Amino acid sequence: MFNLILFGPPGSGKGTQAAKITEKYNLHHISTGDLFRCELKNESELGKAVKRYLDKGELVPDHITIKMLNKKIQSFENPNGFLLDGFPRNKAQADALGELFKELGTDVDLLLALDVGEEEIVKRILNRAKTSGRSDDMDENIIRSRYQIYKEFTQNVFDYYKKLNKAKKVDGVGEIDVVFNRLCCAIDEHKDK
Ligand code: AMP
Repeated sequence: MFNLILFGPPGSGKGTQAAKITEKYNLHHISTGDLFRCELKNESELGKAVKRYLDKGELVPDHITIKMLNKKIQSFENPNGFLLDGFPRNKAQADALGELFKELGTDVDLLLALDVGEEEIVKRILNRAKTSGRSDDMDENIIRSRYQIYKEFTQNVFDYYKKLNKAKKVDGVGEIDVVFNRLCCAIDEHKDK
């Protein structure tokens, strides 16, 4: 199995790149943000429980997020590998992922962090808001707060995997295919090691 974490602030292009990477490397794309949005749309109990966090751009409590992620990962039979997008977002989630993968006899292979600055992020998300229909994309204050949450709580996850020699930064500014090539180079380099 090959397990990749695609990391970076909201609006850094994770969703777009994840679709291309999963196709090329035959991985399952799991985006916790997409899973939550699907629950919201279906008005499930879980959807109702997490709505207020998503609306404000705040992190959903770990016990809810970790339970949902575990269930999703365990729903695949003989997977070739996973591309995680939007998870883990803090140390507790990274620890929980380590435990789950250990149970499954696998591990995180690589974390690739898309590097994009705050002003570019705000510009991109306001543009995405025109078509995404996401309430958390429409308000500049919420976008900036999501970016701050990333800086304050989530970025440490990079150091967590860096210490294990499993984290790399990739320039996330440029044409979609240019960024995709940078990501593929980093993946291939890691696989060839
Ligand atoms: P995203 O699509 O990754 O930007 O996530 C959208 C929203 O879903 C976030 O602002 C959080 O409210 C929630 N969310 C997604 N992933 C996580 C996570 N790993 N931990 C906590 N909340 C999350």
